[in-house]
Amino acid sequence: MKTAVIYARYSSDNQSEQSIEGQLRVCEEYARSHDILILDTYIDRAMTGTNDNRADFQRMIKDSGKRDWNYVLVYKLDRFSRDKYATAVHKKTLKDNGVKLISATEHIPDTPEGIIFESMLEGYAEYYSAELSQKVRRGMNETRQKGNFTGGFLIYGYKVENKKVVIDDERAEVVRYIFEQYSLGVYVKDIIASLTARGILNRGKPFARNTVYNILKNEKYSGIYRHNDEVFENMYPQIVPLEIFERVRRKINANKYGKRSIEVVYLLRHKLKCGYCGQPISAECGTSKTGDKKRYYKCFGRKNHNGCKKSMIRKDYLENLILSTVIDELSKPKTLDRIVSGLLAEQERFIKENSIINVLLREKKQIETSLENIMAAIEQGVITNTTTKRLKELEARQEELERQILIERSKNAVRVSAEEIREYYKAALALEAQMLINYLVKDIVLYDDKIEIYFNKPTRTSPDENRGFSVFTGTADNIEIEIII
Ligand SMILES: [Zn+2]
Repeated sequence: MKTAVIYARYSSDNQSEQSIEGQLRVCEEYARSHDILILDTYIDRAMTGTNDNRADFQRMIKDSGKRDWNYVLVYKLDRFSRDKYATAVHKKTLKDNGVKLISATEHIPDTPEGIIFESMLEGYAEYYSAELSQKVRRGMNETRQKGNFTGGFLIYGYKVENKKVVIDDERAEVVRYIFEQYSLGVYVKDIIASLTARGILNRGKPFARNTVYNILKNEKYSGIYRHNDEVFENMYPQIVPLEIFERVRRKINANKYGKRSIEVVYLLRHKLKCGYCGQPISAECGTSKTGDKKRYYKCFGRKNHNGCKKSMIRKDYLENLILSTVIDELSKPKTLDRIVSGLLAEQERFIKENSIINVLLREKKQIETSLENIMAAIEQGVITNTTTKRLKELEARQEELERQILIERSKNAVRVSAEEIREYYKAALALEAQMLINYLVKDIVLYDDKIEIYFNKPTRTSPDENRGFSVFTGTADNIEIEIII
């Protein structure tokens, strides 16, 4: 049976304390289903960005030298290290000690594709921010599963004791009264009147109509708390029997009270940059003379009066323009062909110019020359302690270099095929608008008469190729649109 240790780390102020347990739980499940025996756990708690000494992490790396176990199991690779370089260094130490790093949630095969996937995971800032919010939600879910209060506004009729939501008896009585009366057909204004007459007030004033309706509509009083698609029945103790709650709900629906407000999503938020002043472009909402809401994207610099003259652009207009251009273009085989050939050419260039391997090869050559010189000296009978010591050093370095060159070569051998590039971009077309934008678009630079859309790419390229090549240019309403990969 293979053996492992778990490494868990708590790193964000946004996460609740319980998420360490969440990490452990997921890792333990993974170990169980893969027949791995957990021998130990290493945990770094309550870390902040500046305090990154990670005592247990260091201990784990050191202990890996004893070769007592096969794997280090982490909840996600970023538990291991935030910094790509540090990750590589620590991973190598583990590898030298015969220990493998496994992520319980990211399945990374030991194939070239796996290596690409891993570097994509580590590399994409967009991915990272999406992940961060996912982890915050995850922390909250741990809290919910324990039945603990997740913080925020606590509804009328409850109080918090030892992190748990408990019933506030006096107020719960009021809640029950409101539900009973309403279910019997008493009007809300009459319920309020009788409460007021009995001296029952809310924050010193008679209950507001809205407050009463909000109470009547709140499912938590029936003991049910929904979050996303999950139902938690261990968080809010029941104040109102389900039957009465359901009766009230049907009555409210029948009375058609309560307008739902639709949350407005700004699809391009966080992606837009002003072409004139470089500031982000953010959401803006105003009300017209007729009372309609008008939504825009507006340069943040201009909002702060930095002198930028970039005009506002209507939200719907810009989003439609960008989405339709991107989707139209990606659907064209001709555009995809252009993307594929461009990326393949970039990839070839990158592999040729990969400077690490060139440096390594140069050093290897120098060492070979030095070794030849020493060997020649030895053949001529010049043997001193220094020459032997130097010989050993050079040989050790030569061995190390050969290993590193092998690693770099194997990295270069990781090529993304034309088919994989096609798949990468085609996959986008199956996504919903928001996902599509996040997946595909790195950023968008906005001028009044020009829009540059920069795409993410699935291949590795040199830093100076970050601004890539143009795959499409077109014009709509006198605005020039360009897609750049
Ligand atoms: Zn601007």
